[in-house]
Amino acid sequence: PTFDSIGLKEDLLRGIYAYNFEKPSAIQQRAIVPIIRGRDVIAQAQSGTGKTATFSISALQAIDTSVRETQALILSPTRELATQIQSVVLALGDYMNVQCHACIGGTSVGEDMRRLENGVHVVSGTPGRVYDMIRRRSMRTRNIKMLILDEADELLNRGFKEQIYDVYRHLPPATQVVVLSATLPHDVLEMTQNFMTDPIRILV
Ligand code: AMP
Repeated sequence: PTFDSIGLKEDLLRGIYAYNFEKPSAIQQRAIVPIIRGRDVIAQAQSGTGKTATFSISALQAIDTSVRETQALILSPTRELATQIQSVVLALGDYMNVQCHACIGGTSVGEDMRRLENGVHVVSGTPGRVYDMIRRRSMRTRNIKMLILDEADELLNRGFKEQIYDVYRHLPPATQVVVLSATLPHDVLEMTQNFMTDPIRILV
């Protein structure tokens, strides 16, 4: 299997090869196709498997850059991780003219509001700040097609359950949900049952 055979957009493929990925990793081989076909996917995967590129490529495939509103939302447990994800999205999307904003605590609220109100295609953030931006109506949610929860077990360990549910309630009912988690404890499974429709489960 190659990235070419997956049916990705030409400008996205260019970004993938420019990032020096030659062929998809195991999780990429198994997860990208069902995600870009619109299925909800829960992948049990550790760091180092290529999970970040899995959901970044899928999100980039889903967005229409001519629509200047948030279409993919990625939630992760730490500011560092959210910022790393933003840089992967920007690198893989280098030929797509994509706007990706890191929406994280400890940064200027006013600057966040300004960036989001200008319109960004992908938001990578931590749950607290993202929910704050939704509540302030700086981040519009009506065009969101995909919600990605990275390190879902860690998100719940850090006490973000309430904020994730708050965010989820503001998303369009048809939003596709992709969950990545190293472990699948009860509260992660409960969240997937609440958010996901007939998910495909992938273990890597
Ligand atoms: P992650 O699991 O997202 O933490 O990624 C682990 C590392 O694998 C990162 O340094 C990625 O840049 C790298 N990586 C991800 N996918 C590929 C690929 N298809 N080919 C080569 N390296 C990759």
